[in-house]
Amino acid sequence: MSPRFAEVVLPLPLATPYTYRIPDELADRAIPGSRVVVPVRRRSLTGIVTAIGVEAPAMAARDIEAALDPEPSVPAALLELARWMSGYYGAPIGLAVKLLLPTAFWGTASGAGERTERVLALASERLTLVERDERFRRRPRQRALYETVEALGGSAPVRHLMEQLGFGDGLIRALARSGAASIEQNERLRDPFAGVTGTPPPARATTAQEAALAGIARLGPGTGALLLGVTGSGKTMVYLEAVRRELTAGRGAIVLVPEIGLTPQTVSRFRGAFGDQVAVLHSALSDGERADAWRLLRRGERRVAVGARSAVLAPVANLGLIVIDEEHESSYKNGEAPRYHAREVAGVRARIEGARLLLGSATPSLETVARTRLPAGDPAALVRLDLPDRIESRPLPPVEIVDLRTAPLAPGTGSVAWSVALDEAIGAALGRGEQVILLLNRRGFAAFLQCPDCGSVRHCPDCTISLTVHQTPPVLRCHYCGHEEPVPSACAECGGIVQRMRGVGTQQLERLVSERFPDARIGRMDLDTTSTKWSHQRILEAVERREIDILIGTQMIAKGLDFPNVTLVGVVDADTGLNLPDFRAAERSFQLLAQVGGRAGRGPRGGKVLVQTRCPDHHALVHAARHDTEAFLVEELALRQNPPAPPVQSLVNLVVSGLNEIEVGATAARVADWCQRIIDRHGLPVVVLGPAPCPVARIKERWRWHAVLRGPSRDLGRLVRTAARSLARRRREPAIVIDRDPVSML
Ligand code: ADP
Ligand code: ZN
Repeated sequence: MSPRFAEVVLPLPLATPYTYRIPDELADRAIPGSRVVVPVRRRSLTGIVTAIGVEAPAMAARDIEAALDPEPSVPAALLELARWMSGYYGAPIGLAVKLLLPTAFWGTASGAGERTERVLALASERLTLVERDERFRRRPRQRALYETVEALGGSAPVRHLMEQLGFGDGLIRALARSGAASIEQNERLRDPFAGVTGTPPPARATTAQEAALAGIARLGPGTGALLLGVTGSGKTMVYLEAVRRELTAGRGAIVLVPEIGLTPQTVSRFRGAFGDQVAVLHSALSDGERADAWRLLRRGERRVAVGARSAVLAPVANLGLIVIDEEHESSYKNGEAPRYHAREVAGVRARIEGARLLLGSATPSLETVARTRLPAGDPAALVRLDLPDRIESRPLPPVEIVDLRTAPLAPGTGSVAWSVALDEAIGAALGRGEQVILLLNRRGFAAFLQCPDCGSVRHCPDCTISLTVHQTPPVLRCHYCGHEEPVPSACAECGGIVQRMRGVGTQQLERLVSERFPDARIGRMDLDTTSTKWSHQRILEAVERREIDILIGTQMIAKGLDFPNVTLVGVVDADTGLNLPDFRAAERSFQLLAQVGGRAGRGPRGGKVLVQTRCPDHHALVHAARHDTEAFLVEELALRQNPPAPPVQSLVNLVVSGLNEIEVGATAARVADWCQRIIDRHGLPVVVLGPAPCPVARIKERWRWHAVLRGPSRDLGRLVRTAARSLARRRREPAIVIDRDPVSML
């Protein structure tokens, strides 16, 4: 028999697969989608077979060393999706394929799919480094075993540890006896959500919900719809019912929620509706927990995957529906290569697998709205379904704009612009035993420290942004790189000893509110208070149990929460995001206001929203105050015509970064020239903007320049593919990043 060869993709930034010889004894297991162990230089790595029967390479191919899966780990449809991601976003195929399997699967351990075997599993509470030094001081082999199992995702088959990795039986049992790990007879399937009791879904759909469901039922395979429903209109019930119909038809579903929306409320609604059929892919899961959830989905033991962005790649069998809640959220865009947007990936996946796509939002992105205006039959066209009213016709809360330039301010509030209107409204709500949410989209104590004499502002030494003032503990901190320094007692420029804080942050607001309402129980939710595993959830539970009267927070609190006793939402400074140098600044501000406004008056007591601003005539504010999403979309879409911005035309952001400022600028100029030559050669209708320094011109000591390509998506695609090919072998500095359909231009 002539030798057979396989193409293997490794989970590394490599643009092309490698070719290996398939030894005869592995022929039935080394098939597309299977994990194989292959030699790479002097190491052995796990890769995925993407094709077999390929041509012999020019140089002698090495042999595949082992085939790990009795059944292919990766379904064919997902391999195809990874190829699309790699091509569309100009990212190495290796990085796209890497996303298809949980980290734990990329070890060289076999047995990921077998049902009964003895497994060594680490205790879920991992030892800290100090504890390891202590406990393993005289037992380096135990430590090596512990950390090997840790690297394999927290558990590994005993047989594999002994036969492939050479750990002794006695050593394995000693580690288990020590309590740091245990030996289990079966593969241990952990489910950290097992204890979550479900909220039963509403008994009957409303007429509007029925109409939306009928629209979803009419969708053909590979097509989709936008469900535009105001906050509190019952979109979630539509998702639940649509998913239930898929399950009844024997199909599975994926439900994506924004990272921050994966709250116990969300989990319990899906648990309540589908119980054990749901696998929750929370970002706080350990590698082992994630691997377990993945296995259950792959085997069809769980039929519904609920998760953030990356769940769009969950191996749900016989996929019928992909739901994306709050589809306008920027967290659906991946921040590293492949820089995919889950909404786009979901659309392509739906087409590949014949599933349907359901995008839901109260404040849809302009990209999605534009797709509802395409002629039916266009592959990107979306059907539009509306839920125009809140459940039980509860009114949307009245929004009152407080013009900070003229409104009376409460005395003695220091640098916080605090209107009498907001102060009195909070007092009144608390007096009635109701709850209040205060939004301030700026964490820390103050945005920056400024010397009133010379005007100088303290900047991060490594990034071109001002340092944020923090208290508890008092420190200046960079929100880009984490650089910290003590709060100076005098101005570094002129020696002036008075330092003024500008730009109120959530910490300062918390202090002010606790001074003005000393009896109120106050909670704060921002990145600084939610860094540990389930802290975000704990704060929300406290609000739900009414242990918090006033919840202060950044945009985190605006999303999807449903607390009927919240009757007042105060937006302390609506202008924080209005003037950012990004064409989506107005869209984001509108979305934030509309979302946070939707948190008020969810219950029978009603409620209202107060918005403090110095730009009361801005169209984002005016339309948000009237709850007029349609008018905002029309006005904003008109503004995107000239100069053209998405969705009218598409963008690719080419970002060059490096330590040497001159080199970065020069490289950016060469990149722009190179693009221009290709555009000229092929007569593409694409414009090159720049090169210019990025709005944030330096991050973590690296200077940043960019050139932006603007044009029809198809022509940009040609450029991206050409650029990706020519960058594939580049390992030099400065670094060049291709960001297609960027969500942030900063
Ligand atoms: P949205 O996701 O559109 O903001 P939700 O799905 O959270 O809205 O629904 C708002 C509230 O209305 C929730 O408390 C939900 O339980 C309730 N609700 C939704 N659909 C119905 C229904 N058909 N009958 C009764 N209550 C409903
Ligand atoms: Zn910094």
